[in-house]
Amino acid sequence: MTYRFSLFLGIAAVVSGAMACVGSPSPLVPEARGSVGLPYRGVLTEPVALPQQGTGYVRIKPAGKHYGTRALVQTIEYAAAEVQRQRPGPPLQIGDLSGPYGGRIPNHSSHRTGRDVDFIFYATDLGGAMVPAQGWTHYGADGLGIAHEGKHGRIYLRMDLERNWLLVKALLQAPTANVMWLFVSNPLRALLTEYAFARGEDPLIVWQAENVLHQPRNSLPHDDHFHLRIMCPEGSEGLACEQGGPVWPWLTPVTLDWPESSSEIATFIEAATIPSP
Ligand SMILES: [Zn+2]
Repeated sequence: MTYRFSLFLGIAAVVSGAMACVGSPSPLVPEARGSVGLPYRGVLTEPVALPQQGTGYVRIKPAGKHYGTRALVQTIEYAAAEVQRQRPGPPLQIGDLSGPYGGRIPNHSSHRTGRDVDFIFYATDLGGAMVPAQGWTHYGADGLGIAHEGKHGRIYLRMDLERNWLLVKALLQAPTANVMWLFVSNPLRALLTEYAFARGEDPLIVWQAENVLHQPRNSLPHDDHFHLRIMCPEGSEGLACEQGGPVWPWLTPVTLDWPESSSEIATFIEAATIPSP
């Protein structure tokens, strides 16, 4: 952490303690604004609120932790609307973003700089009909989850692979943000990417998904929701925002020898796949 950034955090902590306006840039570090610091150690100024509901989504948490960078809010709105356009059904249920000034919020170690948000998985019933998600349902490697125990036994849900894949794809293609991570459990990651291949999706987008879909270490496995983290807003990195993760080769020019075209990607994946006996 740089000295100037440490200084800013110190100032922000003192000022927020005094209930003054952290939404204004500090006169001492005027460039430290927006998403400041790391997702798990930072703050947010100039917050943008995600409305309670919009096309294809609804917020399910109490107000107060529904703030993000403009890019995050626009990305949520874009991706939810895109899924709704392609496969209309029950809305995407949105969990916490960040607090109005960022910083620590209950139940999360990150979500501090306006670059994180949780999505409850889209669900179907056992017959494949789309149904509203019923809270934080844990899904196993077979894609099934127990929503709750009813009077007549267990109520099962199935992870809606079609709509959850459309969400992953829309997030990767959103013009407003660059996806750093979509945290999800390893078995669900496998189901989603296998589904995408079976559906004949462009290997390039599947390869990107295989990179950003990730089961985090030192955290819950994320078998009941996606956790989206986006990159620092363009131009802010180095001034105030700290990425805290990979900058993917398809987002910025790199000197590494990464495949570029779809056919090269397909060859790359084939070469990397261990043939089954
Ligand atoms: Zn989260």
